[in-house]
Amino acid sequence: MRTVNEEAHLKPAIQFDNSYARLPGAFYALQKPTPVAKPELIRINEGLAELLGIDAQWLASEQGVQMVAGNSIPEGAEPLSAAYAGHQFGGWNPQLGDGRAVLLGEVIGRDSLRYDIQLKGAGRTPWSRGGDGRSPLGPVLREYVVSEAMHSLRIPTSRSLAAVSSGEQVYREEVLPGAVLCRVARSHIRIGTFQYFAARKDTDSLERLTQHVINRHYPELAGSDSPALALLQAAIDRQVSLVTKWQMVGFIHGVMNTDNMLLSGETIDYGPCAFLDDYQADKVFSSIDSGGRYAYQNQPGIAHWNLMQLAQCLLSLIRQHFDSDDAAVEATQSVLDAFPALYSNEYQRLANLKFGFAESLAGDDELVKDWFELLAAHSLDFTLSFRRLYELAEPTLAADHSIVHLFEFPETMTPWLQRWRKRFDADSDPSARAATMRTNNPALIARNHLVEQAINEATETQNYGLFNQLVDALQTPFDYQRNSLPDRLLRPPLAEEVVRRTFCGT
Ligand code: AMP
Ligand code: MG
Repeated sequence: MRTVNEEAHLKPAIQFDNSYARLPGAFYALQKPTPVAKPELIRINEGLAELLGIDAQWLASEQGVQMVAGNSIPEGAEPLSAAYAGHQFGGWNPQLGDGRAVLLGEVIGRDSLRYDIQLKGAGRTPWSRGGDGRSPLGPVLREYVVSEAMHSLRIPTSRSLAAVSSGEQVYREEVLPGAVLCRVARSHIRIGTFQYFAARKDTDSLERLTQHVINRHYPELAGSDSPALALLQAAIDRQVSLVTKWQMVGFIHGVMNTDNMLLSGETIDYGPCAFLDDYQADKVFSSIDSGGRYAYQNQPGIAHWNLMQLAQCLLSLIRQHFDSDDAAVEATQSVLDAFPALYSNEYQRLANLKFGFAESLAGDDELVKDWFELLAAHSLDFTLSFRRLYELAEPTLAADHSIVHLFEFPETMTPWLQRWRKRFDADSDPSARAATMRTNNPALIARNHLVEQAINEATETQNYGLFNQLVDALQTPFDYQRNSLPDRLLRPPLAEEVVRRTFCGT
């Protein structure tokens, strides 16, 4: 067997193919990462490395760690920071851009899909404004844990390939250890990327960007009558699919600005995100979301609003394929207006999987509404309520696969549970539906208090034990076996553990 070093001489460690770097210069600034003082590996993601054709052993080696830290540029990389704009909390910002991120390049994965490999916290760029281009350790760990947890929940998301500590301090309200995250996504093209060019009336770049996104994410649209309109429709479909999935696991993104919404339909930016513990429709965690703009129940409406901004950008291209401006506007509007119906259809479809219904019947809306009202009224845990409901659909479930020692419905839920049972029995094939419920009602989510505790232990005492335990356990959120998982990872927070506020941590 060859050693890692010998292998490195034979072929580049990463087979880059950089399509974004081939776009015109207006799309980015060429920007190398700024080296850090003393990089040390925190964790690598072996499964993801394998998907990307990167040798995990190499990635964990000195050379790999140097790359993740930004201290060495791998062969074939063309580092750049992308330009974008965006609406932040509804307020327009014409120039944001990668202020602390550098795209090393792209690879074609073993699944034949193209992936960006980006370093976050890689130093200042032309878009840094007043920022230092760095990231504290906490946000890196949060993004690693939560993005990988989302992936295991089958929710499209950017992923975490590796994290390293930098050996440097970053200065926020306090002095914190620094870190770099190696992030992977199908692309980092945002609604804000379109807004950047639209605001500059740069139609040529908009056209190039539209083509690039279609080639990359929606190749089936290439021959459309109006590619831009088809792209809008496709982006709407993917956001509907994404946000309904968030709602189903009680995920609150927390900062749904237009620069944080990807055309690929993946979740990005794990800043102030959090999962619901007890169910509350108007729940907000983010310390900077004082108006509750990005509250749990507002997420679909905000997605719609963001897509309107995308539509606005695409309108000049859509016009080219219509006889009149009015006709173009009307067609665009009708695509946008379909959002609420698409959303509620998809919501209902996914809710059926969680409640164990084969198809929608009259009266289901009422049943679902009452469920959530009861959860809210009794401050019941969102995740464990659904998981326990699944267990009720599977009466032969072995005791050591049940969460009943941690959660049981209160007496007051009995009438509702009887209604649900009757409804459940009305469909055929109960065991198939129970199996579906199991894989749609996770036992395990990335609980806010555990993520916070893992971050605190790593930050204060360099203890990564809980961080690693969480990342490992969250890979199989739908399996529960009492002996293989401490109750602590499963149960809701105790009163003194509840996290009420999350912070962007930029
Ligand atoms: P975010 O809150 O991560 O969506 O970031 C919003 C904008 O602020 C983006 O343009 C980021 O690149 C930029 N930004 C965030 N943190 C920093 C930092 N530490 N240094 C420079 N730019 C930053
Ligand atoms: Mg962002």
